Amino acid sequence: MRGRAGRIGFNRDVSDAPPPGLESIRLHDTRRRAVVPLEPLEPGKVGVYTCGPTVYAPQHLGNMRSQLFPDVLRRMLLASGLDVAYVTNITDVGHLTDDDHDAGDDKVEAAARREGRSAEEIAAHWTAQWAEDRRLLGCLDPDVLPTAAAHVPEQIAMVRTLEAGGHTYRIDDGVYFDVASFPRYAEFAGLDLDELEATGRVENVAHKRHPADFALWKLSPPGVRRLQEWDSPWGPGFPGWHIECSAMSIKYLGERFDIHTGGVDHIRVHHTNEVAQSESALGIHPWVSIWMHNEFLDLGGEKLSKSLGHTLGVGDLVARGIDPLAFRYFFLQAHYRQQQSFSFELLEAAATGYRRLVKHAVAARDAVGGDVTGGDPAVVDEPRRAFWSALADDLNAPQALAVASTVARRDDLAAADRWALLADFDRALGFGLAGAADPDAPATAASDPRIASLLAEREAAREARDFAAADRIRDELKAEGIEVVDTPAGPVARLT
Ligand SMILES: [Zn+2]
Repeated sequence: MRGRAGRIGFNRDVSDAPPPGLESIRLHDTRRRAVVPLEPLEPGKVGVYTCGPTVYAPQHLGNMRSQLFPDVLRRMLLASGLDVAYVTNITDVGHLTDDDHDAGDDKVEAAARREGRSAEEIAAHWTAQWAEDRRLLGCLDPDVLPTAAAHVPEQIAMVRTLEAGGHTYRIDDGVYFDVASFPRYAEFAGLDLDELEATGRVENVAHKRHPADFALWKLSPPGVRRLQEWDSPWGPGFPGWHIECSAMSIKYLGERFDIHTGGVDHIRVHHTNEVAQSESALGIHPWVSIWMHNEFLDLGGEKLSKSLGHTLGVGDLVARGIDPLAFRYFFLQAHYRQQQSFSFELLEAAATGYRRLVKHAVAARDAVGGDVTGGDPAVVDEPRRAFWSALADDLNAPQALAVASTVARRDDLAAADRWALLADFDRALGFGLAGAADPDAPATAASDPRIASLLAEREAAREARDFAAADRIRDELKAEGIEVVDTPAGPVARLT
């Protein structure tokens, strides 16, 4: 097994001392079924792993909830002064259409065949889309974004360790984990294995000893060459879905690490299997200190997807003229462990709240020239403590957001106090308030893609010494109330 040698470095928010209220952080651990204190394995450092997307289609807004909540978690940990290493993965191979039963088609391969493209093209396209969606929602980029296909040797090494430890058996279509070899298997999710055995659909994979046994390595069927396959000690094939997260999290965060997150739908199978194979391979318990899971976003079942003809994603918000950060605000209105109902009416209400918050923040910011140091401790300490202690209490984002909204609206606060607070809160809220524009002002040159493209066109004309064309574009912009000023750093567009 790879030990700590391959571990990545840690990042730290050194901008400020830890705010009041963040002295002790408590988080809900699925394994212990309780809110527990965060006790980093190495003082001052926290490693976090989040299960990422299977990249064969757009991600719906519900999936983005499982990216948003660890983003708030990570921002809070950074604000508390901890060094944070944040890893999320890309599943570009091994995730089957019937992943509960190790059966069906590989999702990325199926999409590639359907669209007549390579598996790599499909994965690259949807990875880029997902990364852009994350950015639009205000999520910080991961420190490492490993892909399953690029970590096959690590996965094979882990399966070999499990094989040597007597945790596997081989059948026609692959190498399987033997859950009977890991007595704690049912503990993590509180499963009833006898019931599973009685009701399990063993017919999906012939010769599996127990329905909960899961594939570690799937062999390519005889005579079939898959789009993505690798040689292995067991023959050509591809890794099972679960092994990638164990192999990659251990590679980048060490054999034990602090926090693993994902959606609640991962608890019974994917995370149960990650625990079984990691603890069996490493001979340790517990492998991960705290497991955090977010609840579903209720998209109203069939109704909403049917009306749109596809699942609802960040692109749909943009197409409707809704700022993706208004969805971030909407997400923050519910606790991550609560199911949240989605409708466009609820989102519009959140968008109004979001615009109000930004408007007040921008007014305060501009009144003090962006100075974040002007807060009077006698005034700002209490709301700061209220905000950060809400987040320190198992990420109570709705309560923290309520503190921020109240501060934004409070007329009795001086602009210096208001901006000092909102700039501080924004380290966790992630709205980018320091660079935000007044939402009621007309579109600025920089934020309007049409004007940006006209500016680029004018610049190209100037470089080609086509001054007539450059002047024509300048006049066109002027007619729309935008003045172009050429500076040593390039042209700048200003509203006149
Ligand atoms: Zn995973």
